[in-house]
Amino acid sequence: MIKIENLKLSFGDHEVLRGIDLTIEKGQVMVIIGPSGSGKTTLLRSVNLLEHPTEGMLSIGSSRLDFTPQTKPNAADVLAFRRQTGMVFQSYNLFPHRTALQNVMEAQVIVQKKPKTEARIKSMELLRKVGLEKKADSFPHQLSGGQQQRVGIARAMGTDPALLLFDEPTSALDPELVGEVLKVIKELAGEGMTMVIVTHEMKFARDVADQVVFMDNGVIVEQGTPEQVIERPNHERTRLFLSRLN
Ligand code: ADP
Repeated sequence: MIKIENLKLSFGDHEVLRGIDLTIEKGQVMVIIGPSGSGKTTLLRSVNLLEHPTEGMLSIGSSRLDFTPQTKPNAADVLAFRRQTGMVFQSYNLFPHRTALQNVMEAQVIVQKKPKTEARIKSMELLRKVGLEKKADSFPHQLSGGQQQRVGIARAMGTDPALLLFDEPTSALDPELVGEVLKVIKELAGEGMTMVIVTHEMKFARDVADQVVFMDNGVIVEQGTPEQVIERPNHERTRLFLSRLN
C-alpha cells in the first residue's frame, strides 16, 4: 500500500501542492485528472522523488519518508524509496544513443547492479511483453513515438517497482499511436500492477481506473470511482473541467 499524507511542495513562493492525501492499495489503478497547471506532474515527480516535497509524508510498504521545511530525509532513504517506483514520462526520455534493449537494461545494470546476462534476459522478456521483441536492437530514432513509449514502459518495469507512475503517457503521440500504448497499460493493470496515471484520455480512465482523482490548483477536489467522478461529479469545478474536454 502507498500512502501520501499532507504533501506540500512550493517552488519559491508558489505553493504548487497544497496538502495532498492519497492512499493507493496494492494492485489498484489511480487516474489523476485536472486542468493544466493544477500540480499533477509535480505530484508524480514528488512520489518519484524527482522533486523534494516541502512537507508531508510518503510511504510504500515499510519504507517511509517524512518531509519538513527544516529537514530533508537522508539520501539513502530517498534512494531506497525511489527504487520502488518507476516513471513513464510524457516525452519518453530514452537515451538516444542506446538501443531499445540497452535502454531497458540500463537501470537494472547501473542502479540494481544486476549481472548483464540476467538484465538482458529480463529486458527481452519485457520487450516481448510490450510487443517489441523484434525492435530490441533499434535506436529510439528508428522507432515510432508509440514504440518509444512502449520501450519507456518496459524500462520502468525493469527494476520491478512496487508502483508505476505515468505522466500523460500518450499526450505526445499522434492519435493513431495512442491505442497501442493504452493497450499495454491496460494489460499491466489486468496483471495487478499498482499504477498512478495522469491522463486526459477519459474513455481510458473509465476503463482502467479503480479510483479517479480530480485535482485543481494544488488540491484534490474530489475522488471516487470513475462512475462517480467522471459521470456524476459532485463539484462544479470538476463538471467545468470535464465539459471543456468534450
Ligand atoms: P500539471 O501537471 O497539472 O499541468 P504541473 O505540476 O506541471 O501541473 O505544474 C503546476 C505548477 O507548478 C505550474 O504553475 C507550473 O508552472 C509550476 N511548476 C512546475 N514545475 C516547476 C519548476 N520546476 N519550477 C517552478 N515552477 C514549476
